[in-house]
Amino acid sequence: MTATLPTTRDDAVRLDEASPLRHTRDRFRIPEGVIYLDGNSLGVLPAGVPARMADVVEREWGEGLIRSWNALPDGGGRWIELVGRVAARIAPLVGAAPADLHVGDSTSVSLFKTFVAAARLRPERRVLVVEPSTFPTDGYIAAGVADLLGLELRWCDPADPVAAVDAGVALLSLTHVDFRTGAMYDMAAVTAAAQAKGALVQWDLCHSAGAVPVDLTAAGADFAVGCTYKYLNGGPGAPAFTWVAPRHQEAARQPITGWMGHASPFAMARDYDRAAGMTGWASGTHQVLALSALDTALEAFDGVSTADLRAASLSLTDLFVRLLGERLPDLEIVTPLDHARRGSQVSFRHEHAYGIVQALIARGVIGDFRDDGDAPGIARFGFTPLYLGHADVYDAVEHLVSVLAAGEHLDPAYAERNAVT
Ligand SMILES: *Cc1c(COP(=O)(O)O)cnc(C)c1O
Repeated sequence: MTATLPTTRDDAVRLDEASPLRHTRDRFRIPEGVIYLDGNSLGVLPAGVPARMADVVEREWGEGLIRSWNALPDGGGRWIELVGRVAARIAPLVGAAPADLHVGDSTSVSLFKTFVAAARLRPERRVLVVEPSTFPTDGYIAAGVADLLGLELRWCDPADPVAAVDAGVALLSLTHVDFRTGAMYDMAAVTAAAQAKGALVQWDLCHSAGAVPVDLTAAGADFAVGCTYKYLNGGPGAPAFTWVAPRHQEAARQPITGWMGHASPFAMARDYDRAAGMTGWASGTHQVLALSALDTALEAFDGVSTADLRAASLSLTDLFVRLLGERLPDLEIVTPLDHARRGSQVSFRHEHAYGIVQALIARGVIGDFRDDGDAPGIARFGFTPLYLGHADVYDAVEHLVSVLAAGEHLDPAYAERNAVT
């Protein structure tokens, strides 16, 4: 545990005032009375996005029309450059060069492209390995690709994924930070061990990008994907990013060979001629509205050091864990306590996890619930240091204690689950 954890709420307020991140909260619009612990599901609205969206819609689209793809005389437009601009903002957060990122599609579609490309790079190997605890879409897409290409999908033991890698494995694909528990893999060590057995390694960074330091280059990874609407605050359905190690870009071929990945799309040639580098990972027309929102959203990271972000995140999660231990010692925390193995969330398992989360939401403390098959469900709390402080942690725990003491979580209204949990 960190030595500087506050011992009282007043102490927490003082610590927040001294934080190097004390100004970044103003970069967001957080509704009055809300403590938002769900930035790992949908980040809050960055303050500059409404004005940017209005400008893009009214001026760039409404007035500039098709001209905005290139540029507008009074600035703005340049839609064709948006993917590169956004890639340049994401790159330092994941240890990538901007040119090695593509931004577009959804994470699910990106996974389809990378699974196919990886399998094609290792045609003599017929197995894709995924951990069964991964976010469902990763497993679903892997199964779909295995079916399409006649490969085997093998589920590994999440505690020892490399044990499932043998000479038949083309790709080991893992989610860096587990969406339920917040457990984090040692990216460099797992990558090296699986590559030593000849497999390619892919990391899904959905719960990592913007939350924990990631260095794809130093880890020597082969592929990575991630979404931008969680800790990167890009807005609902914001485009995903895809990273391909530069050493594979020449040989790796993604399967959705649309015109925007063509070497010269406006030549309107009959035959597909793949663009070099990550430009060839585009398929259709760029998601201009979503990319514009994301471009502005990522300004929230301007001048923020990843080290400060990580230190603050660990301090917030440490404090949450400590307060839960003091006030609700029977809770079964499923998030690793070891810093090296923890993402930026804390989860606990509880028979009434759904009711607890709903009762907290009714009090303005927003976390979420995740089903876990036959096991009791999981209440999940994400900590985004750009807009959360230690005082919020004190207040959230106080609400949780009150919910449980009064039995608010047992309200029959919470017996039925919402469509989106
Ligand atoms: C959130 C998440 C996704 C989401 O995929 P979409 O295609 O954007 O809906 C995928 N994988 C993981 C690991 C996630 O956490």
